[in-house]
Amino acid sequence: MPGIVIVGAQWGDEGKGKLVDLMAEQADGVIRYQGGNNAGHTIVHGETVYKFHLIPSGILYSGKPCMIGNGVVIDPVVLIGELDGLKARGIDLGGLKISANAHLIMPYHLMLDTAGEQRLGKLHIGTTRRGIGPAYMDKAARLGIRVQDLLDEKILKKKIAAALAPKKAQLRAWEKDPALDLQSMTEEYLAYGNRIEQYITDTAKLVHTHLTKGDTIIFEGAQGAMLDIDHGTYPFVTSSNPIAGAACVGAGVGPTAIDEVWGVAKAYATRVGQGPFPTELDDEFGEALRQAGGEFGTTTGRPRRTGWMDLVALRYASRINGFTNLVITKLDVLTGQGDLQVCTGYRTDSGAELDDWPYHQSVVHHLNPVYTTLPGWDDDLTKVRSKEQLPQAARDYLDFIGEQVGVKVSLVGVGPARDQIIEL
Ligand code: GDP
Repeated sequence: MPGIVIVGAQWGDEGKGKLVDLMAEQADGVIRYQGGNNAGHTIVHGETVYKFHLIPSGILYSGKPCMIGNGVVIDPVVLIGELDGLKARGIDLGGLKISANAHLIMPYHLMLDTAGEQRLGKLHIGTTRRGIGPAYMDKAARLGIRVQDLLDEKILKKKIAAALAPKKAQLRAWEKDPALDLQSMTEEYLAYGNRIEQYITDTAKLVHTHLTKGDTIIFEGAQGAMLDIDHGTYPFVTSSNPIAGAACVGAGVGPTAIDEVWGVAKAYATRVGQGPFPTELDDEFGEALRQAGGEFGTTTGRPRRTGWMDLVALRYASRINGFTNLVITKLDVLTGQGDLQVCTGYRTDSGAELDDWPYHQSVVHHLNPVYTTLPGWDDDLTKVRSKEQLPQAARDYLDFIGEQVGVKVSLVGVGPARDQIIEL
């Protein structure tokens, strides 16, 4: 019963969406296990470009179970917008299933997200301001509203009332009279409940049923390992656990249900938002990489920070996720960039040499990368479809990554389209 986790190995935006889309074709179902509509996946099918923020990438396969797990936080406005958009493009939504236990993003979560970032001023985290952090805060505080609550007016109103009082007090510092009305909010959310009722179910049970039959289920992670709230560059992290272990919690299966963990990394590195990024290229070359790779956020359009491949961070990601396979995307972007640097160690300001990710935040903020230089290539890779057709320098680059991380590179992306992928 193969359970396959697909997880970001860097700071997110590695191209997981394309891999999930590819693997979903063979699989029997897909479930997203964490995050919210701060994630953005771009899928290219023929001439059509699809951008998803909430709905798992597998939705394009008509009727295949495509689940939003209990670990995800859902903004119903965004969800319904995506549903309408897909319907308008003729996509069959029959396979969509939404966990009754998933938590909802409420209007006050959006307000608190913006207020929180403003309060932090220069120290802001760079959240997408979609209310995701505050929704997870309410979940932990046991003040969250869940999808199932939308199906019971009395309970919904009671729960919103309980959550609303402290929010009004918190928001008063920013707005004298925050526009948060219990009655109209309850009615608004009941209407959302009506719209999505047909999709609500016990997704954990559905996943279990499939795995028991021997079906293949893809567990789709959002963001990346270095943004994990426990293992990433805290506090500059996302408010959930993107790492593979969280697939169990966010989908409702035991660890024994997971057979493979596929880590997805770009051939270089990018990061959105604030926080440490040891191999960052804050120069003309970084800008060239941004342009060549189209490194602008799917959700926010924000320019992504760019840098060299960081193999210390990737080794760390492999360790905390337990990668069985590695996928390197966007190798085509490195064409014509001259010699390539890959970070194989760090030097601290006091001169200490490190070959592993340090646990102390103060050290992380002052890491100086130690680079190994590898020869680049000028050949266009976008039409390459086999390992043999790759220039030797590109093969050596991939081999070096695989050796340093200790996990074989199984797939390589050479362009955004579905067929622009090489099996090694
Ligand atoms: P995700 O959130 O990890 O799925 O990543 P995004 O979808 O935000 O970002 C990946 C972007 O890179 C998308 O625009 C993809 O179409 C594109 N992409 C994926 N793989 C490749 C590749 O191998 N080469 C190139 N040039 N683009 C790719």
